[in-house]
Amino acid sequence: MIESTVTATAPPFSFNLWREPWIRVTRLDGQAAELGIGACLAEAHMLYALHDPSPLVVAGIHRLLTAILQAIYAPESLDEIEDLLTAEHFDPARLDAFAAQYAERFDLFHPTAPFLQTGDVPLDGWRKPEKAKKGESQKTGIAWVEPKPVAPLFAEVPGTTYRAHFHHITDEDHRMCPACCARGLVTIPAFASSGGAGIRPSINGIPPIYVLPAAKSLFQSLALSLASPGYQPQTIDERRWESALWNCDTIIKRDGTMPAVGYLESLTFPARRVRLYPHAGQERCTQCGALSKITVRNMLYEMGHHRDVSAGVWDDPFVAFRHPGKRGKRDPAELLPVRPQAGKALWREYTGLLLTSQDAEELRPKIIRQIGRLIDRGLLNDMPFVLFRCIGLRTDGKAKVFEWLDEALEAPPRLLVDPDGALVVEDALRRAGDAEQVLNFVFNLHFRPEREQGKQIKKDLVRFKTLRDRMQTTFWERLAPEFHQLIVAAADPAQRTMEERAWADSVVRIGGATFTEIADQVGDRADALRARVEAQAACRRQLYAKRKEWFGE
Ligand SMILES: [Zn+2]
Repeated sequence: MIESTVTATAPPFSFNLWREPWIRVTRLDGQAAELGIGACLAEAHMLYALHDPSPLVVAGIHRLLTAILQAIYAPESLDEIEDLLTAEHFDPARLDAFAAQYAERFDLFHPTAPFLQTGDVPLDGWRKPEKAKKGESQKTGIAWVEPKPVAPLFAEVPGTTYRAHFHHITDEDHRMCPACCARGLVTIPAFASSGGAGIRPSINGIPPIYVLPAAKSLFQSLALSLASPGYQPQTIDERRWESALWNCDTIIKRDGTMPAVGYLESLTFPARRVRLYPHAGQERCTQCGALSKITVRNMLYEMGHHRDVSAGVWDDPFVAFRHPGKRGKRDPAELLPVRPQAGKALWREYTGLLLTSQDAEELRPKIIRQIGRLIDRGLLNDMPFVLFRCIGLRTDGKAKVFEWLDEALEAPPRLLVDPDGALVVEDALRRAGDAEQVLNFVFNLHFRPEREQGKQIKKDLVRFKTLRDRMQTTFWERLAPEFHQLIVAAADPAQRTMEERAWADSVVRIGGATFTEIADQVGDRADALRARVEAQAACRRQLYAKRKEWFGE
């Protein structure tokens, strides 16, 4: 029964990710296409970017392609990255050599060495073994595990525990084509989060924001993602340098602790022990709607590998960090990855995510530090902006997923290498934060009916809280276009000082106008009217006082 799938002749199930199309891309002319890994890398200079309805898939594929290129090129220095950028395409001979050696390991349904899955479970592992003694399969000696529906491969598809009522499909009804399965699988290394007892997150813990270079072509974006030795995680184990998805052990252990991790394997870290169970017969994929001769309904899906937590935080080169403590009381072991925050616009993290700081230590992603060194060498200076695609998944730190984040941040190349310019941006953001505090303070002081009138006004309390939230959101939304102007000016020493004042004026103006508008919605009762007029005046007064304070006037 199982023997037939292991014979040397062509296996009945095969979907090789190197050759079969599954990666969605946009070409430079705007056309959409689906490609295998081999074509995607060979044509990368003619492609604009990865494109997928799910940004998590984009980040997952970006990391997979980066791992492959990192293995092929293994740049020893910035010179080598510069040479590659100058070549303007990936070397077909090197891609072919890699494929000749490893392409077989990219088969989704390989009988014993399946891509990003465990090879010790047969393809028909969904079938409960006959004559099994206490759940032991005689064939493999591995305890048989009840198959799970394929839905959990996608964070946005409600799974077993968190099925939404409006989602009119049950877990058992999902049928996924091999391409969709692959797209789901590659999100696991970067985004697997905690999920109930014994289910731990992947190598970066609770998913952080991944900052990915997004340049003129997919080639350039990927070339800029290669890390020379000084810009790789300090936490890698050099002895595992060669170790990667395509040459490592074919077995993913259940809840296996990894005391040491190499860089290549970190990019495709098998945080889940998965085995997709393929079924033959033409069916429509419930994820993408395509007809497929092979579909997957269920799979083995359980806790896979995790990195030994005592080893500290993994300093992924695409992740920014922050210190939880105050300056001077910083413990490197306490570094925290920058993660998405509820209701906080991404550009407010601009300095932490992209810029060099005044401190001796840099906490922005290592890959951006390396891009900074390339800019110092005169590269990328022909571009008005360097773009970074920031992708994240906001969770409650456990199994609950709230939303994903997919936004681009742009930076004039010069700003990435100029600590003085960074300081201007940092000050600007801090001042906007000061102004927001003024708005909140005045709002709370003047519109707090619940304090005086007891519990009867509970409804008002809720309404005002909503108004206050809207005030904060509106304030930051209106500042966003001004921020774009600020970063352009911050990159230019001649414009900086004037722009600092212009920004402060905008902050005061927008803060005052936003407060006035929101206060107008508090209500028209006589007491509210009076509170409103007083509050609006107080807000304006305090904002002007802040402005004086900023410039020591
Ligand atoms: Zn599909």
